[in-house]
Amino acid sequence: MRWQDHLFEKLVNNYRKSLRGLPGNNLPGLRRITTHRSLISCLLICCIIAMLWPGTSLAVTAKDKYFKAEACYKKLRNSSKKQKYRDNWLLCIEKFQAVYRHAPSGPWAAAGLYMSGSLYWELYKRSFKKSDKKEALDIFERIIKRFPKSKYRHYAARATGSFSQTETKKVESKKARYAKKKPSTVKSQIKKNVKSAASKVTTVTGLRFWSNPSYTRIVIDADRETSYSHRFLKKDPLINKPQRLYIDLNNSRLGRDIKKVIPINDNLLRNARAGQFTTDSVRVVIDIKSSKTYKIFSLKSPFRIVIDVWGRAAKETLATESTLKTAEKKTKITTSALAKQLALGVGRIVIDPGHGGKDFGAPGYFRGVHEKDIVLKIAKRLAKKIRENLQCEVILTRNSDRYLTLEERTAIANTKNADLFISIHTNAARDRRAYGIETYFLNLATDDEAILVAARENATSTKNISDLQTILNDLMQNAKINESSRLAAYVQESLYKRMKKKYSRIKNKGVKQAPFYVLLGAQMPAILIEVSFISNARECKRLADSKYQDQLCEAITTGVRKYIKETSPTAFLKRSHTTLVE
Ligand SMILES: [Zn+2]
Repeated sequence: MRWQDHLFEKLVNNYRKSLRGLPGNNLPGLRRITTHRSLISCLLICCIIAMLWPGTSLAVTAKDKYFKAEACYKKLRNSSKKQKYRDNWLLCIEKFQAVYRHAPSGPWAAAGLYMSGSLYWELYKRSFKKSDKKEALDIFERIIKRFPKSKYRHYAARATGSFSQTETKKVESKKARYAKKKPSTVKSQIKKNVKSAASKVTTVTGLRFWSNPSYTRIVIDADRETSYSHRFLKKDPLINKPQRLYIDLNNSRLGRDIKKVIPINDNLLRNARAGQFTTDSVRVVIDIKSSKTYKIFSLKSPFRIVIDVWGRAAKETLATESTLKTAEKKTKITTSALAKQLALGVGRIVIDPGHGGKDFGAPGYFRGVHEKDIVLKIAKRLAKKIRENLQCEVILTRNSDRYLTLEERTAIANTKNADLFISIHTNAARDRRAYGIETYFLNLATDDEAILVAARENATSTKNISDLQTILNDLMQNAKINESSRLAAYVQESLYKRMKKKYSRIKNKGVKQAPFYVLLGAQMPAILIEVSFISNARECKRLADSKYQDQLCEAITTGVRKYIKETSPTAFLKRSHTTLVE
């Protein structure tokens, strides 16, 4: 099958060869012609000749490769959704570079290379990654050197020019911000800056971590925001050093009470240690035994740096862990462990009641009603229902009125190897008439309202959300976006259907996406449900009512059930069988 497809593609491409000229000279209506199957027999002959003729075949393929890359880019350009994912950019870049690699001195090489550079530049504008910028610049320089006569040389030179202009502006603004580093600055300004610098030293106040054999999250706490850099060092047997990752916080001091070494000692990491590296920088070093990948991002108010490290053999360690757990709690060989062993898909669900403790969440329409209390009640009910009806193990991130950081909530879900993560919140709006139900999954926000909700739930400003959007690009690779959006759809649909049957004036605000800290770095499908508006009189009253809460939980459970069933159609058949065995 695949071979035939390949052949047909080859035929079409060879036909294109005869129709197409140089890069950019696209012929309108080509697609219509190429799909005309009656041409196949005629093309087959051309094709065979082309394949047998090495010279022709080479040229044809480079050109074909260029058109393929161009098609890839066209798709990307036309889809703002696709543009959000780094992988899609890299895919097109790779295709353009393949054109160059295929025949580095051929007529298509410069074009391919130039396009790959341009795409890196486009990517940089979204990712803000220095490495992307560097790639673009390197590529343009290569074109200038390698293809002195090509028109792409001029394009590359122009691109590099505008590039360095932007760069200069950036550097200048940076310099302006950090004027204290510039010796030629006016004296008074130096004084002022020295003063402000002295008062603006960041104190590193703590190291925290959560860990299981395949995943560790470390958080560096600080009392104010500061810039930081990180580096991964390979194992160095010469000096008997393991792999390590270090993070340097600039303009920082080590707090007095900080525990300087925290022993982690799981399968992944040995320990993490913090030290005053230079007089004005703090270095945190993480000694790594084995790791597959890691991600670093920072959160605001209060400022902290989150480091997620994933292990090499996540599946193996997971199996070991569940075996250990089974041995530990013999009475609890429950469905969860068995469900996992039978590969039923979902065995363990983490339910996360939002806020808690000093964080009250959104204030209710009526005095004394707070989001943190309502969502805790709902989460407890939901846990009970899911345990009873879906035979899943349920873990609550909190089951009392206590404060939990947002990063801790996902860390719990990740370290417990949960299969689903459900965060429960109540919505709020300035306009007290606003009401309805909506379910979110992690992604870039697509509308202003979603940004507002994310800002409120993240306890940050809408401005910070745009910062968050940029780090998301990187974190997306581990997020289960599709799964999460599917889960969100089932839950939202079920909520709307059920609540509409039982209550009047239920509004379906639909499934939405936004960057929520609490969903960041979650390794399983994760959603955040805004069950109703606590700021609306009618919904606030309902939220406080146990019957309404019960209906909400019933509906969420149905949604989750549908999701599990769709993911693994035999899940509940096997599960009831499991119960019999027990
Ligand atoms: Zn909330």
